Amino acid sequence: MSNWLHQARYYDKPAKERGGNSGSGTIKFNPAWQSEIQLTQIPQRLLFVPGDYPGYQAPDIKVPYWEWARHNYKDGNTFRSFMCPRGTNRSIPCTACSMQYDAKDPRIATRRVKYFTVISLEYWYKMTNSYGDVSYKMPQSPAEERRYAQEGERVFGRKGYLALGSGHAEQLFDLVEQISSTCTNCMVPGQKPGKITPVKYTCPKCGAVQVDMETTELSGKDIKAYATTYHKCGSCGFSGLPDVVHACNKCDEPRPADLFDVVLPLAKRGEGKDTMITVPHGSHIEFIDNAEIEEGGVTVPLFDGKHFSPSIVELYRPYNFVDEVFHVELLPEYQDQRVFGR
Ligand SMILES: [Zn+2]
Ligand SMILES: [Zn+2]
Ligand SMILES: [Zn+2]
Repeated sequence: MSNWLHQARYYDKPAKERGGNSGSGTIKFNPAWQSEIQLTQIPQRLLFVPGDYPGYQAPDIKVPYWEWARHNYKDGNTFRSFMCPRGTNRSIPCTACSMQYDAKDPRIATRRVKYFTVISLEYWYKMTNSYGDVSYKMPQSPAEERRYAQEGERVFGRKGYLALGSGHAEQLFDLVEQISSTCTNCMVPGQKPGKITPVKYTCPKCGAVQVDMETTELSGKDIKAYATTYHKCGSCGFSGLPDVVHACNKCDEPRPADLFDVVLPLAKRGEGKDTMITVPHGSHIEFIDNAEIEEGGVTVPLFDGKHFSPSIVELYRPYNFVDEVFHVELLPEYQDQRVFGR
C-alpha cells in the first residue's frame, strides 16, 4: 500500500485536525499557500509593490523582490515543493540539502524562486473557513462563479505574492525592459507615451563616457549586453555596471518607467513544464496614473498623481516574506515532519 495516499489525505485535512505527535512537537500550519496568487490563462491586472530585499547571492545589493532556494522532492507519485531553511547560511540544518549534496539522492532538486508582492486588481471571492483561515478564489468558469458566490464574499483587489522560477522571472524582466522604454515624465493620459532610448553608457564613479550610441561600433545585441556586464573604467579604473543616460523623443527630462509605475495584465500560457508568463494579445500595460479600479461599486482612479486610492493604500505594503509568509516553512523541522515524516 503506497504511503503517499495516506500522506495526501492527511495533509488535505484542515490544519487543526491533523494534530498528531511527531518528534519534538507538531509544527504549526503552513499558511504560505494562502497568499500565493496563481496566474492562469485569463489575464489578471497586477500592481507590483516594491520591496527592499537583500540580493540572494549579493546581500549588499538591494532588489525589489525576495529570492530564496526551494527544494523539490519527487518519489514515484509523491511530489512536494518546500523552502530550504538554509539558503546561503550553511550552519542551518537542512535534510533535503544533505540528501541532495551529501547522499547524492536524485529525488531532491533545488531551484531558486523570486517572490514579488502584488495586488491583483480583479474581483475575488474571499473565503473564510470555520477555523478563521482566509483564502481567495477566482472563478475560471460560470459554474465556479455560482459556487464561490454561495460560499464567499466578492471583493475587488487582493494582496498576494507571485512566485517566479528563473524562466518566468526572465520573462517578467523582458516585460520590465519593454516598460522602461516608455517615459513617465511626459506621460499624458490617453496619449502614446514618449519613447526612451539609451544614448550613452557612463562610468558610475567619474562620469566618463564609455559608450556613445552615436559613434559606437557595437552591434545592437552587444549594446544591450553592455548594460548588464561589469566594465573597468579607462579614466578612473573603477569596475562595475555602467550608468545609462537616456533620451526621450518627447521631453528633455526622460524618466524611464519602472515595473511599479504600471498595471501589468499578466497571464500564464502553455502546459506542464512548458509555460510562460505574458501580456496576452489584446491586453495593454497601463500607467498607474491612467488606470481605474472598482471601489465601493464605483469606478475610481487607481492613483491621483500623488496617492493610491484608499482601498489600495491599505494593501500597498511589501511582505516581510521571512516573518509573515514563510515562517513555518522555513523551520528546519518543517520538512522533516511534513515531507519526510520523521
Ligand atoms: Zn536545503
Ligand atoms: Zn570612471
Ligand atoms: Zn519624456
